[in-house]
Amino acid sequence: MERMGSLLSRIGILLSLACACLAAPASAAPLAPDCIFATSEDLSIESVRADPRWVCDEVKTLEAPRFNWLRFDDAGSAGYRYYAMEARWFDSITVYRIASDGRIASNRLVPEEVHLSNVNDMMLPLPDVGDPQATVIVRIDNYAKFRDAPKIRLLESADRPAGLVDDLVFAALLIGLILAPCILAAMLAFALRQTFVAWYAVMCAGMALTIAMTSGLAASWFSWNLVVFLVFERLGYVLIMFASCQFARDFIEREALSPAMRRVLRWSGIGILIVGGLNAGIIQSPMLFGLAQLVVLTALIVAFGQAVRRGSRWVRYQLLGWCFAMVLVTDMAMKGVGLGGFLETDFLTVYYAMVWEIIIVAIGVTDRALMLRSDRDRARQLAAEMENLAERDPLTGLLNRRGIANQYDSLMRRGFTTFALIDLDHFKSINDRFGHHVGDAALIATASALAPDEDTLAVRLGGEEFMLVLRGADGTLRAERRRRAITARIAETVPQMDRPVTASMGVVEAPGESAAGLPFEVLYLRADKLLYRAKNEGRNRYLRETLVFGEPARDDHQAVAA
Ligand code: GH3
Ligand code: MG
Ligand code: MG
Repeated sequence: MERMGSLLSRIGILLSLACACLAAPASAAPLAPDCIFATSEDLSIESVRADPRWVCDEVKTLEAPRFNWLRFDDAGSAGYRYYAMEARWFDSITVYRIASDGRIASNRLVPEEVHLSNVNDMMLPLPDVGDPQATVIVRIDNYAKFRDAPKIRLLESADRPAGLVDDLVFAALLIGLILAPCILAAMLAFALRQTFVAWYAVMCAGMALTIAMTSGLAASWFSWNLVVFLVFERLGYVLIMFASCQFARDFIEREALSPAMRRVLRWSGIGILIVGGLNAGIIQSPMLFGLAQLVVLTALIVAFGQAVRRGSRWVRYQLLGWCFAMVLVTDMAMKGVGLGGFLETDFLTVYYAMVWEIIIVAIGVTDRALMLRSDRDRARQLAAEMENLAERDPLTGLLNRRGIANQYDSLMRRGFTTFALIDLDHFKSINDRFGHHVGDAALIATASALAPDEDTLAVRLGGEEFMLVLRGADGTLRAERRRRAITARIAETVPQMDRPVTASMGVVEAPGESAAGLPFEVLYLRADKLLYRAKNEGRNRYLRETLVFGEPARDDHQAVAA
């Protein structure tokens, strides 16, 4: 509950910050391309300028043929000095500036020259042609994300635009919010030895990485080479997808997913890890990656459906947590495979979906972890009770022979060194005359007369044979008091009895180290010998001996008649 409270307060802070960010002032308006022209022929700038195939109405999404041309007709209207585009793989970019008198100047960029620092965009300074009214035309060879044409623009300055700093602070806060449960889960995974908690931590780590890369935070920390940047940007996202599959597989109850479904989840997760890894570095195929995303999505949806049908409790947290993220991923995957998406999303939407997922799933993970712990506690308690039961005599509730045997070593160490074996006299005749149930009542009365306390352990060894194990110098005296109490207690509680029921006792004292290493059976045999002699000498009495280094002391066999 406490954790929930702190989570909720953090969400509150974030929401207010989000509002502040949305209200942050926009930077000076960047200039979007006016016309676009895609071709698979390698044309010269001169022929492209005059080409009738320029498209000027719909510059939103285009297929990605080999050569893409962009035209900025209003490039001269403000002091635009930089060409900027989202960091994606490409072969080369050439920016031409064409003066009104026909002179052309150009700047060219290849991937090896890209260094992303401070912002996530690749920047290229506009060439100087000495004419402020010059038109700008850009040639891009093989840009991996050409469908986002509007995100290509001219800027006045290469500095981070105003307002972005607030976004960075917001992104840093989001990362903090995500890293807190991430670290907690990583620690919990070790404590609980549960893989689903570990996968949750990986999911959080992937989200933190994604936010750091896409928000520009990572670029503000280091200067990135294009390939490394693309690999890390994709890595975060791929980690989320991969860990989501493994998480679903391990988090949902085992019986709520078929073995085949669990295998599908595992392998579709591994699949996107491989495809995503290759796609980030070696091959640049939005199509392949989109397909892999669709496979993962389908696997998750089918798995969730199966779990819901089979009455899973945990899948509900996942459905609720992942609803927004799944809509976004569907949109992204559809754009990737060229079906065209259905959403206009920005990063902030994606971040909100992630944080929502993290929070809801965190509640699920906590719920499940708590349940695991209470299950474990219950099992432990039951085991303790079973063990306790196995060491108890059901009729009297005293320890039984197994109980004393198990505790013998520990009792000796704790100073319980007086062993008194007590046997009721002529007990058989009680059974014979009054019946077994009266005999039982006498046994229960005997147990209560033995009155165990913190220095006295009472055991029913079997039949009408009991043992007292005592601690302290006056052990024999206290045992003798209890032996005598038996007669009074039976007379009190078993009214049918027409004669006093007595007991005989053999006491072995093993003070200090004198019985160290002697097994229980040896002490028991010695006490039994004394008891046998007490019976022979007329019953209703006790005999006692003190062991010195495992042997009885001479002249110590005191018999005391009642
Ligand atoms: P002694 O004075 O020599 O000890 O004679 P005894 O009759 O007490 O000894 P014996 O060992 O001959 O008899 C023990 C009797 O205890 C036999 C059995 O019927 C009775 N007994 C053993 N366990 C129980 C029990 O759980 N309930 C009842 N009612 N009787 C029991
Ligand atoms: Mg007896
Ligand atoms: Mg007996």
